[in-house]
Amino acid sequence: METSAGVVIIGAGIVGCSVAEHLTRMGWRDVVVLDQGPLFEAGGSTSHAPGLMFQTNPSKAMTDLAKYSVGRYMELEVDGQPCGYQVGGIEVAETPERLTDLKRRHGLAASWGLESHLISPEECAEKIPLLDKTKILGGFFVPSDGIAKGVRACEAMGRLASERGAKFHGETEVTGIEVKDGRVRAVETDKGRIEAELVISCAGMWGPYIGRMVGMTVPLMPMQHQFAWTTPLADLAGETREVMQPMLRHQDFSMYIRQREDYYGIGAYRHRPMPISADDIRRDYRGEGEFPSVLEFTPEDFEPTWQEARKMLPALRNVEIDRPMNGLFSFTPDGGSLLGESREAKGFWVAEAVWITHAIGVGKVMAEWLTDGVPSIDIAGADVHRFDPYARSSAYILARSSQSFREVYDIIHPQQPMEDPRPLRTSPFYARQKELGAYFLEASGWERPQWFEANQRLLDGQDDVLGRGEWAGRYWSEIAAAEARATRENVALYDMTSLKRAEVTGPGSLDFLQRLTTGQLDRPPGKVTYTLMLDDAAGVKSDITVARLEDERFQLGLNGPRDIEWMERHLPADGSVQVQDITPGTCCVGVWGPSARDMVQSLSEDDFSNETFGFFNARYAYLREVPVTALRLSYVGELGWEIYTSSDLGSRLWDLLWEGGQPYGVVAGGRAAFNSMRIEKGYRSWGTDMTTEHDPYEAGLGFAVKADKGDFIGRDALAKRKEAGPRRRLVCTLLDDPNLVVMGYEPVFVDGRAVGYVTSADFGYTLGRSIAYAWVPPEYAGVGRRLEIQYFGERHQATVSEEPLFDPAMKRMRA
Ligand SMILES: Cc1cc2nc3c(=O)[nH]c(=O)nc-3n(C[C@H](O)[C@H](O)[C@H](O)COP(=O)(O)OP(=O)(O)OC[C@H]3O[C@@H](n4cnc5c(N)ncnc54)[C@H](O)[C@@H]3O)c2cc1C
Repeated sequence: METSAGVVIIGAGIVGCSVAEHLTRMGWRDVVVLDQGPLFEAGGSTSHAPGLMFQTNPSKAMTDLAKYSVGRYMELEVDGQPCGYQVGGIEVAETPERLTDLKRRHGLAASWGLESHLISPEECAEKIPLLDKTKILGGFFVPSDGIAKGVRACEAMGRLASERGAKFHGETEVTGIEVKDGRVRAVETDKGRIEAELVISCAGMWGPYIGRMVGMTVPLMPMQHQFAWTTPLADLAGETREVMQPMLRHQDFSMYIRQREDYYGIGAYRHRPMPISADDIRRDYRGEGEFPSVLEFTPEDFEPTWQEARKMLPALRNVEIDRPMNGLFSFTPDGGSLLGESREAKGFWVAEAVWITHAIGVGKVMAEWLTDGVPSIDIAGADVHRFDPYARSSAYILARSSQSFREVYDIIHPQQPMEDPRPLRTSPFYARQKELGAYFLEASGWERPQWFEANQRLLDGQDDVLGRGEWAGRYWSEIAAAEARATRENVALYDMTSLKRAEVTGPGSLDFLQRLTTGQLDRPPGKVTYTLMLDDAAGVKSDITVARLEDERFQLGLNGPRDIEWMERHLPADGSVQVQDITPGTCCVGVWGPSARDMVQSLSEDDFSNETFGFFNARYAYLREVPVTALRLSYVGELGWEIYTSSDLGSRLWDLLWEGGQPYGVVAGGRAAFNSMRIEKGYRSWGTDMTTEHDPYEAGLGFAVKADKGDFIGRDALAKRKEAGPRRRLVCTLLDDPNLVVMGYEPVFVDGRAVGYVTSADFGYTLGRSIAYAWVPPEYAGVGRRLEIQYFGERHQATVSEEPLFDPAMKRMRA
């Protein structure tokens, strides 16, 4: 075995083999792949996965990964044997609610460029003749879905990588990883030591065990998932083809079915979650018997699924279960994959919690990331650094991964909060908000008021609030309209505590932030700048606000833990800059509305006048006895301040503002009103409106780029992007029908062809119009352009509008 390598990949399952194939395809040569099991049926999850690939996913990135993967499975072969079968996939509905949701999924598929069809029960039965069509209401058919032969695909990619110089070693267990001065140096195995500066753990559900070798928490939980084949069916007698019928998903019973030769396979998510620690999974498999990833079958857990399968395909009543198993694979707190480089040891990367469906695509983005520094697909939802510290606790990983298992096939509303553990993070205003009848949703573990029942009274006399459909009406109340109006007319308090913030200090902090952002931050203390962090390909990594509070002290409003990790990754080695996440120890209230100044001034001896405290300025001040940092800006487009203080004084701050605000008619406002006003004002929300797949100009954020300020990350790429012109544009559209509020990710059509998708959308209470932002090709982005937005299968007319819709002259905020 080699004693050194450029990169060592741990695991020759589908992910490890794909990473090796793509790295060597991109020119890497000294790649070594190790697996504790024999090649290529190594005993991990890949060894027994039945390989169903349903591509449609609420996440664009996951669908893109699946689309690429399916394409590659179809190309790959081993000695003439294919690695993929594009037989199509049908999701059937047994309930009216599911049937409605299939229309939404049909829209999602169109948004992400996937051909799909809504089909009748008869059409479902034409494709799967043994299906009882009387049991279903309809189906959603994706012709390009299919079946992967996981182990064969490993071998095919292993061969390709080997031809380009990669070395594969089976039956070689990684027993340790050497880390020196914060960098990976070598991998220790039961067959010797390999020096390497780059190690990629593709160890699947053994990931947490491998991660601990470098001190990294890998937040995944192996779970048992039941799967069984049947004995042969007389109705399929003589059928020897691997598969010719489309796969079937029966989500109302959390199960799936596939045909293979003259029998079927049935998978179940209906049973209780059965987690097992990564440490307790065998590592000594040498190919002599049962895979370590298969545990003893528990028939009582499978029984309801088996009975349901026999109802769905009555011919199954004549056969028995054969080769059943409790197979293990990885679940995570939010169901997403885990990709990225460890904080604890430079050069140690993970690519874990990945389905067969997405695995080849994951190999591609990992190789791009390692080669060019930037994956071509936005991987925010799979970034291993997306979790706050609480979410890396074993209690949370267990609770949430179990829930992810239960919810695999559930209909999940975009705003649906987690149920447990709650409440987890509360702002100091929580008790007061409860007194006001807050309806809380949850974001990043925080309890966030969506609206306040106490504001019901404001609706008296406001009987023109339009309702919205069932889906858009969930987690919504017409009270939001009253809160928005109160904000536009008087003043309201918004709890902004849940937004991530950090402090950057030290003599090198200005240079550091200048390099990380597109804006000119070399401004006097007291100035606030809205700016962008780009990646090396000029994709928008985050949009942030930077308040220079002192020469060497900056307060940053961020989008999440990934921003902090990105900054820490770029810290200068000389210790001249410190980055601290101050979110947990501080709180923030947005005080916004035309009366905001009078109200805040009434509580302070500091001067909040426009002359002294201008727009996009920041000051230290006191509100009575509470020391605050006040930033004069607003995401709802009104006069006002974000007011920060330490958590211990938070409830006092709220009480002062509440009591002091009574003469001004102050109300508490929730997230529903906030979001509506944000969209009226055209303020983008990172992750929804733009991601790393977009450049600032395309997203309408060119104003935040000061290209002549000196060098910054992404600058050269941005210049090229600007010259090349926009690939698509984010546009503001107004729907003709004010009664229709869409939710985001709906497809946009021109001349009957899907050309883009909706991002942020809401009803604008001030304008009385339904608004939807959308990505469309530049040729459809002109003001006045007519478009159609498809919502639950129906097309609705919309028009591209000038933006921002509300107060374009900024009179209110600058007042
Ligand atoms: C019953 C069942 C059905 C499934 N059905 C589907 C499906 O229909 N569609 C789908 O998309 N997905 C499905 N999955 C999920 C899918 O199988 C997995 O997500 C996928 O195979 C994971 O691939 P991987 O390469 O990450 O992990 P694995 O295949 O587990 O590979 C990890 C490898 O790392 C090796 N390794 C671990 N530790 C060490 C060490 N210390 N030293 C050396 N080597 C080590 C292991 O031996 C293993 O080979 C199913 C899973 C199960 C259990």
